[in-house]
Amino acid sequence: YRVLAFESSCDDTCVALLEKETPQSEVRVIAEIKETLNSANAGGVIPLDAVHFHQKTVAGVVRRLGAEHNFGASNPPDLICATRGPGMVGCLSSTLQFAKGLAVAWDRPLVGVHHMLGHLLAATLPSKDPSRTQNEFGRPEYPFLSLLCSGGHTMIVLLTSLENHEVIINTIDIAAGDALDKSARCLGLTGNMIGPELERLVEEIAPERRALYKTIRTDGKNSRYPMKLTKPMTSPKHLRIPEKVEFSFSSFPSCVDSFVKSREMDSDLKDFTAYKIQEVLFDHIIHRINIAFTKYGGPQGSGGKFEGVKDFVCSGGVAANKVLRHKLQTELKSSQPLRFHFPDLALCTDNASMIGNAGIEIFEKLRLKSDLEILAIKKWPMNDLLSVGGWQDV
Ligand code: ATP
Ligand code: FE
Repeated sequence: YRVLAFESSCDDTCVALLEKETPQSEVRVIAEIKETLNSANAGGVIPLDAVHFHQKTVAGVVRRLGAEHNFGASNPPDLICATRGPGMVGCLSSTLQFAKGLAVAWDRPLVGVHHMLGHLLAATLPSKDPSRTQNEFGRPEYPFLSLLCSGGHTMIVLLTSLENHEVIINTIDIAAGDALDKSARCLGLTGNMIGPELERLVEEIAPERRALYKTIRTDGKNSRYPMKLTKPMTSPKHLRIPEKVEFSFSSFPSCVDSFVKSREMDSDLKDFTAYKIQEVLFDHIIHRINIAFTKYGGPQGSGGKFEGVKDFVCSGGVAANKVLRHKLQTELKSSQPLRFHFPDLALCTDNASMIGNAGIEIFEKLRLKSDLEILAIKKWPMNDLLSVGGWQDV
C-alpha cells in the first residue's frame, strides 16, 4: 500500500509518498518534496509567515506529487500521516487540517504522528545512499538507546517498545543544534542551515592546523588562542554520579560571543573557534552519555536500566554531523559493544518520509489511527505518546 505523509512543524513544507508492499517488507520512499521558506535573512522563523507559507504551498505540492506518481481522487493513497506535534501549532495545523480533508475526501485512515518519534525511527528507513555501510546492522532491536539531537531537542531516550520511551538525559536549557547555530552566528556564519556550514568550515581547515588546534586547551590561557570555552558540568559537584544526568548548552553561544567581541578575529582565530565549538560541544555530549552508561549500563545480569541494549540510534539534524558520529562510535564507554545506526543525512533533518515511516509503525504494530478531531499539540512529551488521546483502534 501507499502512504502520503506531511511534515510542517517548522518552516519547511514537506510531503512524501511511501510504499510498503507487504507488512513484512521494508518501507520504500518513492518521493519527498521539501519546500523551504527562506527565513535566513529574517534571522529566524516568523511564525505567521511560516503559517502562510505552509497554507499557500501544501496543496500545490500534493497536486504535483499526485501528477508525478499517479495518485488522486480516483487512485488515492491508502494511509495519510501528518505531524501532530510538538511544534508551532499554526504551522502544524496548516498541513494537519489539510491531511484530515484528504482523509475524509478519499475515505482513508489518518495517523497524527509525534515529530520526535519520526526522528527516532528515521534510522529504520532504508538508505538511499549506495556508498553507505552504516545500515549494516539492519533494524535496531528493542530495547535500544537513541540520541535525539536537533534544533529543539537534545536527549538520550531508552526505547523498550514502539510506544514506551524513557528520557534518560535531557537538556536543562537550550538544544545542541540551537547552541551550534547561535555560536556559529557569532562567528559571522549566516544561512538557513548553519550546522552544515559550520561543519564544512571545519572540514576545510588544513589537517595540520586541525591537529594543532586539537592540542590547544580552551581555558583562556593560551596567548595566541585565548578562548575560554569550557565543557559544562565538569565541576567536582558534577563529577559525582548525579541523581539525574543532564546536558547543558547555553554557555556555548555566550562564551563564543564574548571571545569574538573581545578581539579582532583573523581567519586563523575564526577557524580555531569553529573547530572548538564542535569539539567541546560534542565532547560534552559524549561525557554525559558516558556518565549515564556508568549509572545504568552495568554488565549483563546486573539489572541496570541499560541491560540488553545493543543498538544505539542517532537522529535529528545534529546527528548528521560526521565529527559527532565519529566521536560516538569511538568514545562511548558502553559495557558491551554497540551497533550504531545513522539515518541518511537527508533523513536527519525534518522531512515527511520519517513521519510516514513512524505513522506506518503506529498503524501496523499498534493498530491505531487518529480520530478526525485531533488538534496540533505545541508541547508533547515523548513518554506521553498515547495518553494524549485522539486514538482509535483500526
Ligand atoms: P526539532 O526536531 O527538535 O523540533 P528541528 O526540526 O528544527 O528541531 P532538525 O531539522 O532535526 O531540528 O535539525 C536542525 C538542526 O540541526 C539545526 O540546529 C542545524 O544547524 C543542525 N544541523 C543540521 N545539519 C548539521 C550538521 N551537519 N552538523 C551540525 N548540526 C547540523
Ligand atoms: Fe525536527
